[in-house]
Amino acid sequence: MRYISTRGQAPARDFADVLLAGLAEDGGLFMPESWPHFSPSDWRSMRGLPYADLAARVMQPFVGASIPFDVLRTICRDAYAGFGHPAIVPLIQLDTGLFVQELFHGPTLAFKDMAMQVLGRLFDYVLTRDDKRVTIVGATSGDTGSAAIEACAGRDRIDIMILHPQGRTSDVQRRQMTTVPAANVGNIAVEGTFDDCQDLVKAMFADTNFRDEVRLSAVNSINWARIAAQIPYYVAAALALGAPDRDVAFSVPTGNFGNVLAAWAARRIGLPVARLIVGSNRNDILARFLESNDMSMAPVEPSLSPSMDIQVSSNFERLLFELLDRDPEATRRTMLDFRTTGRMTVSEPVWHRARGLFHGFRLDDPGTEAEIRRLHAATGYLADPHTAIGIAAAAALPCAGGVPVVAMATAHPAKFPDAMERATGHRPPLPVRMADLFERTERFTVLPNDLATIEAAVRALAGRNT
Ligand SMILES: *Cc1c(COP(=O)(O)O)cnc(C)c1O
Repeated sequence: MRYISTRGQAPARDFADVLLAGLAEDGGLFMPESWPHFSPSDWRSMRGLPYADLAARVMQPFVGASIPFDVLRTICRDAYAGFGHPAIVPLIQLDTGLFVQELFHGPTLAFKDMAMQVLGRLFDYVLTRDDKRVTIVGATSGDTGSAAIEACAGRDRIDIMILHPQGRTSDVQRRQMTTVPAANVGNIAVEGTFDDCQDLVKAMFADTNFRDEVRLSAVNSINWARIAAQIPYYVAAALALGAPDRDVAFSVPTGNFGNVLAAWAARRIGLPVARLIVGSNRNDILARFLESNDMSMAPVEPSLSPSMDIQVSSNFERLLFELLDRDPEATRRTMLDFRTTGRMTVSEPVWHRARGLFHGFRLDDPGTEAEIRRLHAATGYLADPHTAIGIAAAAALPCAGGVPVVAMATAHPAKFPDAMERATGHRPPLPVRMADLFERTERFTVLPNDLATIEAAVRALAGRNT
């Protein structure tokens, strides 16, 4: 399997190269050169498989000859072995035709673990095979940093340094990053904002000498391997509900469009998906696009569902590429225009194609709290603010013909105790395996917002072994 850039000016690569590179050299995103296809009998043969084995089967054509199937399956089994639920992605019924699939049983209690746990192991395998090392740096305002740290902690070929804005993450979020006792993990509390942290990471990548010296790498949300590792849970839910002999719909609380793009990809490879619902909070650029072809940037407003507080959904470029019949020139022009004007222009026919499958939904903070309360009263189920938006969307947009809708539960309610308590009067406890989070020892360095100082700290972490 080869991968091409959505902007058409980078050479085709194999899965291992795409895994390590992340973004293509021309600024585009990698996409499979051609889509694999699973037939109805292929899907039937996967019924009843343990989740890790199902994941390896679904990912196999995307990985291609890069990694032997036995290795991939071992990586998947290992990645999901530490999850807090034996079903890995349990499916729960809330109402007639309404289900929720829990993607938050990994080490950081959010759906990022579903892909990151696989990714860290894939990195280690490829780097060992090629006798290389990398240093991963990233900036986080909360959740992505801990998922990346948990994925990389203790891996032989990776060092990871995560920058967070001092005093501006929640205590749970900070402790999830700073209490991981692995020598290859570093945390810096930057005296500044999240934007300062992001600028420092960009500046490190732009410093060519430094980048080469410590072999900088990233595991951000546009990495194709993350999308590939998110397809299998859509397959698992659909099979459980009768696929390939019955359609299914999905409702996905959306930020960078990575999770819902994986649902789209599941449909593209043959899963019978009738509809995809894109849930937003008041940062509703995607809902506005689907409603009225208005994809215009607006300032990001903080909300109860911080992982959906986005201005631009970076993975949308992949869908755009497909909607434009894989025309890289048109994709490049549209994206560059969007960057300069702040507004994406998409022709009517292309917009109608998007609307044929995707439905937008928006819920503000009071609505989200009301939904958490309603759901708890009606079913006893505790949905975190992100998940509650997806469930509200699924209930608001029922499918014709009895097609079941599965809402994706992307975070454990214990990650948002204040919002949960306000809505329901209950403060959900952390799962037992994390109950001692507040007793664990923290390790982090407070540093000024200064590139040379931060680079010296990264160099020291990367140089531990030399
Ligand atoms: C990252 C995240 C999302 C958004 O997912 P995207 O792939 O960026 O669309 C939603 N909910 C939670 C809890 C998340 O951590």
